[in-house]
Amino acid sequence: MPATVETVEKLINEIAPFETAEAFDNPGLLVGRRDAEVTKVLVALDATLDVVMEAERLKAELIVSHHPLFFHGRKNLVEEDAEARVLCEMVRAHISLISAHTNLDKTMLSGSAACAGLLSLQNLRQDGYLFVGELPEPLPAKLLKDKTEACLHAPIRQYGGEPGTLIRTLAIAGGADDEDWQEAMHLGAQALLTGEVRHHNALAAAMSGFVLLDGGHYATEAPLVSVLAEYLQKRLNDVKYSVQFFASECAPFGALE
Ligand SMILES: [Zn+2]
Repeated sequence: MPATVETVEKLINEIAPFETAEAFDNPGLLVGRRDAEVTKVLVALDATLDVVMEAERLKAELIVSHHPLFFHGRKNLVEEDAEARVLCEMVRAHISLISAHTNLDKTMLSGSAACAGLLSLQNLRQDGYLFVGELPEPLPAKLLKDKTEACLHAPIRQYGGEPGTLIRTLAIAGGADDEDWQEAMHLGAQALLTGEVRHHNALAAAMSGFVLLDGGHYATEAPLVSVLAEYLQKRLNDVKYSVQFFASECAPFGALE
């Protein structure tokens, strides 16, 4: 059965309702047409020009990105900035774009949940954007940092943690969520892995004996790409749609490690 852009849009809305996104956010169908037939879909963290080119090479008619390409209204589409170039290229190539952002962040398909899977967290529970679980075995903060670097293939910056600090329970909030470190501590975690740690939060957490691990925004969310692609593939296979999902291989900042 042929799928359309709307088929994928409805499926994503079922898993991660667009109306649950934050007010500043702009998820949903952003480019293209709902009735366009779809045989191949490329899933990516960001709809960059490289990702659009990748979609063209794959002959994908739809890109599903985590971050919306734009958050605010535009007054022109002059190709003198990167965003306009991407938009125009998508239109020229008849490629549609659906974004699933903060609506996805509160689901098991979030970057946080994907990182929790990579770190084998057990008894995973969720509170807002925070995913909290137990490590398979308690680890000193430094060893947890090393393990996280190996799992995410990215350098991790560690704030706080004495040599003897043991981490049993880890909270994860992929992307930019250092604000939630106190909430993570209240939930029983000894450390929070997130992507953008500001100095004042690093300092306050360290003074509270809490460990912050900063893996960078990209590395703490990139794991969701293959998880989301596989999940959407399975769901549409189950209802006999002939559509193929691909996880983007574009690395916007080059290889992390
Ligand atoms: Zn993000």
